[in-house]
Amino acid sequence: MRFDRVTKRFGSNTVLDNLDFTVAPGKHVTLIGPSGSGKTTILRLLMTLIRPDEGTIRVDGDCLTHEDKGGVLHPAGEKHIREVRKKIGMVFQQFNLFPNMKVLRNITEAPVHVLGMSKDEAEERARELLELVGLTEHIDKYPTQLSGGQQQRVAIARALAMRPQVLLLDEVTSALDPELVAGVLDVLRDIAHSTDITMLCVTHEMNFARDISDDVLMFDQGKVIESGSPEKIFNDPENERTREFLSAIL
Ligand code: ADP
Repeated sequence: MRFDRVTKRFGSNTVLDNLDFTVAPGKHVTLIGPSGSGKTTILRLLMTLIRPDEGTIRVDGDCLTHEDKGGVLHPAGEKHIREVRKKIGMVFQQFNLFPNMKVLRNITEAPVHVLGMSKDEAEERARELLELVGLTEHIDKYPTQLSGGQQQRVAIARALAMRPQVLLLDEVTSALDPELVAGVLDVLRDIAHSTDITMLCVTHEMNFARDISDDVLMFDQGKVIESGSPEKIFNDPENERTREFLSAIL
């Protein structure tokens, strides 16, 4: 996944400023930085909920922002965006499960209706994923019958059911009671270590970031001010603002 000279403004507020970064296939990158520094805007751009003012965003060779028509680049149309979007899965802070559907159908709905997978195949895959997230016995429950941690693990299974190449994680434990956080992070650690999925993660869980990240990008005011391995960023940051940010939250 690659951002090239991406700028995003809201009115006169430049939220991302000529941003470049790359996440190589299969790598796990964590975005850290103070509130308002632009981290969520990056995820929203990848989800195509908003569009950049300038620059290009690529996902595994496919351009999300532009399409090539006879050798000329045009802003991407809806159909093109929908196709590239299929490569990206997201897990939200607030789970966002379908409340009127049982766990199994929450997971099979998109593979059947968006990817055109057969119901049998989608259900078989859903059962495998529920085993992966440790929820096999809850397959017939509605979301409200589950704890927040269990709902978030269903949301992870639901995102993986689309076989995304890139998984976006937006503060996935911040809405959970403290005792439920570890179970969700354990599942994500497992996925990070056992699959070749590319991950882009926004989190305040620094131990988790340390465990799963190949690289950590420190944001401030819409720019990457420091990047490197988790050991480097957490143990020996060079930038004064990184040091201040980490000492305030660790
Ligand atoms: P972070 O995730 O790092 O906390 P965000 O990406 O949410 O930061 O926000 C970056 C900046 O963009 C903030 O100043 C925020 O107020 C602004 N912003 C985000 N979304 C919108 C929007 N839809 N309209 C106007 N300003 C926005």
